Amino acid sequence: MTKIAIIGGGAAGAALFGSLLRHGRMLDVEWIAGAGANGRGVAYATPDPRHLLNVRAAGMGLYPDADEDFLTFAAKRLPNTAGTDFLPRHLFGDFIESQLQERVASARRRGQNFLVHAQEATRIAPHVGGYRIVLADGTAREAEVVVLALGSLAARPLRTVSSDALASGAYELDPWSLPQRVQVPRRLLVIGTGLTAVDTLLSAARLWPQAELVAVSRHGLLPFVHLPSPLEPYALQQDLNAALLACTGAAPMLGLLRNAMRASPQVAWRSIIDGMRPINARLWDGLTLARRKQFLRHLRWLWEAARHRTAPQTAQTIQQLLDEGRLQVHAARVLAVAGHGPLDVAVRARASQIQSTLQADLVVQATGLDTAAAYSAHPLLSHLLRDGLAVADPLQLGVAAQPDGRLLDAHGNVQPNLYAIGSLLRGNLWECTAMPEIRAAAHALAQSLAAGRTASADQATACAPAAGVAAVQTHSLPCPCP
Ligand SMILES: Cc1cc2nc3c(=O)[nH]c(=O)nc-3n(C[C@H](O)[C@H](O)[C@H](O)COP(=O)(O)OP(=O)(O)OC[C@H]3O[C@@H](n4cnc5c(N)ncnc54)[C@H](O)[C@@H]3O)c2cc1C
Repeated sequence: MTKIAIIGGGAAGAALFGSLLRHGRMLDVEWIAGAGANGRGVAYATPDPRHLLNVRAAGMGLYPDADEDFLTFAAKRLPNTAGTDFLPRHLFGDFIESQLQERVASARRRGQNFLVHAQEATRIAPHVGGYRIVLADGTAREAEVVVLALGSLAARPLRTVSSDALASGAYELDPWSLPQRVQVPRRLLVIGTGLTAVDTLLSAARLWPQAELVAVSRHGLLPFVHLPSPLEPYALQQDLNAALLACTGAAPMLGLLRNAMRASPQVAWRSIIDGMRPINARLWDGLTLARRKQFLRHLRWLWEAARHRTAPQTAQTIQQLLDEGRLQVHAARVLAVAGHGPLDVAVRARASQIQSTLQADLVVQATGLDTAAAYSAHPLLSHLLRDGLAVADPLQLGVAAQPDGRLLDAHGNVQPNLYAIGSLLRGNLWECTAMPEIRAAAHALAQSLAAGRTASADQATACAPAAGVAAVQTHSLPCPCP
């Protein structure tokens, strides 16, 4: 029996836990899911009905071999739902919970061993035959295989924010906490114009109808928008993808993309970008470190806006706010945030280079996914890095790992039974944070673990824990999922 521990209670942890539960009695699975333990994570915990999925209903799901399930679930709650719709994210959270309940119930019926811990893991250390995991209450668990599904890390304040501003209570690092604020701001400034910033603006507009809203980012670019109905695929996508894979560097790739878009004006650029999805990880893998840096410096902002598009309804609401004059979007660099509240935000406009100061009662940092492991105060990750069990990715996009998710230690050795899934792997895979990629990765990892492809003596490297599988005691305790 292989004992597997999953750490992280978001959608990635849920997808892996659910997939492993299906593999029967040869696996003993523990899900260390943190408070809540419901699989919603950051993205699907929002109760705001205006926060929509940015993937059409037909493209969402928890398991890749059950494509229709989310649509069926949604149609029972929202009659007339179509696969092309962009549905509220909380509905997908409800779906995850219901899927977990089903898998847990059937695992219980089969008498399978599993455990769910509604608390955080704070430390992992090598232990005979695997790892020892310390939980927040000081108890320890043991597992042969550990998978980290920690999601994005808590945001760090931008370097330009003064300590006074941080202490004032008028600088908010958690965009999802706006509903808990009692004081109504007259002017709210959001730093960032990506998907999280858009959600923040939607919530603020609803919570505080009189507030003036300002969003600032270097390029001032809001996410591009999905068209109401799906597009035909680009007929020459296969050839284009083969040519892209044969390229060495970002510039020739860009050239190929420009030519394809120019030569096929009847095919929207969206089809071409979406059609690249199956090869994005391979394209990333083919880039040298220098080229990856180049891409991040010069093209990331454009790629993110084009690839992670917003739902048409969301864009309409934002446009309405712009048309009513309630929202202003500036392309400017934030130079400093100072004051005790209201805060002074010094900016330099991108086009004119003119510096000015914007005042706001509340400044919200919504600069998107933070995966800079080396700078994170995340207790578990900090310990892993300090103990040399993990090493930060050189681009500060997560942790260094093999393409299959196995972590590298501080000496560059592969950790045979310590994996990551989801956003911690961004440096290695780039595209690994959305549900379609996450559920495929969870499924593949579950298959591989169930097939017994855990470390064997010949796979083990210098840093591997001592060989020999410890006898592990297992329990079947009630799952805290509702
Ligand atoms: C606002 C937002 C909207 C999105 N919308 C979409 C969408 O519409 N479609 C789509 O496909 N993708 C979307 N995404 C991408 C999204 O990242 C994935 O769909 C998915 O939710 C990621 O799940 P995760 O489990 O990797 O991370 P998270 O959701 O971040 O979950 C990680 C969880 O692990 C817990 N955790 C961390 N450390 C520990 C520890 N030591 N012990 C125990 N638990 C721990 C955290 O508390 C958290 O609950 C969105 C992302 C965001 C942020």
